[in-house]
Amino acid sequence: MHCAEAGKALIKFNHCEKYIYSFSVPQCCPLCQQDLGSRKLEDAPVSIANPFTNGHQEKCSFLLRPTQGTFLREYDGRSDLHVGITNTNGVVYNYSAHGVQRDREGWEESISIPLLQPNMYGIMEQWDKYLEDFSTSGAWLPH
Ligand SMILES: [Zn+2]
Repeated sequence: MHCAEAGKALIKFNHCEKYIYSFSVPQCCPLCQQDLGSRKLEDAPVSIANPFTNGHQEKCSFLLRPTQGTFLREYDGRSDLHVGITNTNGVVYNYSAHGVQRDREGWEESISIPLLQPNMYGIMEQWDKYLEDFSTSGAWLPH
């Protein structure tokens, strides 16, 4: 897991009629190996905000990540995705073939969607209890 990459800005550039994303501007195109030195202005690399967040730092959120690997390194756009819900301490509750899992790592590069509206923060005090109670219900036992 490349934890240092979470939240780091991405570089986007266009070559070989594809958009290519990286963390720095390479000397040559990774696809055709052609020198990237001189280009038209419209092909210049641009910095974009990294859309992924460290799910273990998110409270009461819905998380999405690839089942295998990470979005930036391994995801091919078609592989299975995995979802989880965080408690108030960054523990990610998720369901696998082994039943409910409580992960303290592995969700460092996730898409995060907050589940609580600002006027619902009262629920946060009960959130961990609700999540734990719900997770221990028999419906989540592995089959
Ligand atoms: Zn190229």
